[in-house]
Amino acid sequence: MSDTGEGLRHIPADALTALGEAIVRGMGGAAGEAALVARHLVDANLAGHDSHGIGMLPSYVAGIRAGKLRLGAELETLRDRGPVLLFDGQRGFGQVMARAAMERGVERARRDGLAAVGLRNSFHIGRIGAWGEICAAAGFVSLHFVNVRSRPIVAPFGGSDARFSTNPVCVALPATDDTPRVVLDMATSQIALGKARVAYHKGVPVPPGSLIDHTGAATDDPAVMFEDPKGALRPMGLHKGYALAVICELLGGGLTGGGTWGSAEPEPDLIVNNMTTVILDPDLFGAGAELRRDIDAFTAWVKASPPAPGVEAVMVPGDPERRTRDERLRNGIPMDAGNWAALCAAAAEAGLDDGAVRGIVGEV
Ligand code: NAD
Repeated sequence: MSDTGEGLRHIPADALTALGEAIVRGMGGAAGEAALVARHLVDANLAGHDSHGIGMLPSYVAGIRAGKLRLGAELETLRDRGPVLLFDGQRGFGQVMARAAMERGVERARRDGLAAVGLRNSFHIGRIGAWGEICAAAGFVSLHFVNVRSRPIVAPFGGSDARFSTNPVCVALPATDDTPRVVLDMATSQIALGKARVAYHKGVPVPPGSLIDHTGAATDDPAVMFEDPKGALRPMGLHKGYALAVICELLGGGLTGGGTWGSAEPEPDLIVNNMTTVILDPDLFGAGAELRRDIDAFTAWVKASPPAPGVEAVMVPGDPERRTRDERLRNGIPMDAGNWAALCAAAAEAGLDDGAVRGIVGEV
């Protein structure tokens, strides 16, 4: 989604959250889960990740309608042994399941110094950085490896068809007093499917190196993702990004028992995430204070690099999200006409007509 263009509106985060909550409630969700889902999605918009923001709600509504997303589900503990916790998300809202799993993991890391947390069979858990931020806010380092079961859209390096999905990875480091925390949070595909969709609707090419067609040849035509014969997204960073995607698949889906591609068939309207998380107390190495000093010193060192021509400032992972959050809290969240129409259609499914939507967000 761009911040300029026809039909673009800016909606305050609070209003969009209230609308998200009303939609989940209208679909039969309880107040608690509706609040967690809406806040998480709008927070992804605030962080600048519109592909994982409130625009996901129409897919959640479709998931509920198709019986693939279970309202009111509760996290099931499958294993609790020393620092190891394994949970089943029961195909409930990922925002509820991943939060509960992270809270249990943080508790365990406080007790044992580290925790290894498996979460399987949860509906979409959204922006993975949010889960890293929970651990970092508690003073811990965390690593998250995730696979996705919906439909395969990413090709292996050197392959010619889609075999897995955008498998995100996140590593978060705790904040110090006045320097920002470091949060690496990324898909392992070159671009998100959402970005290809935007380009497709606009009739413009995607950046070179992002896609292949059904023969495996490079293309910048986003239609290959939406029209037959289908192509695929490329992994980021050539063979290295692909290698990381394989690790996410095997740690996220394999280690948790949630399943990997090769042993599963695509199911319409299903978006399941499986995630393996390691949470580590830096004081376990006796290095808490040292690590914090290093975070300060190293981030200051790299950010002092004179910006290259055309670059405003050198940043560290987590900075772009913080900058965008500051700006969007001031100016509202940009929403283009297509995404707004899809959200209003989801609202209508949930029993909210135009008047009800206007009553919540005002005239937009
Ligand atoms: P991205 O490419 O925008 O950013 C990736 C990382 O690079 C971030 O940590 C960011 O802080 C950092 N970064 C960006 N620009 C930078 C710069 N100039 N200097 C330093 N660091 C910089 O992210 P993405 O790969 O498009 O992923 C978007 C979101 O999608 C993520 O939140 C991810 O968790 C989510 N996602 C979720 C799923 C799922 O199934 N739940 C699947 C894929 C992606």
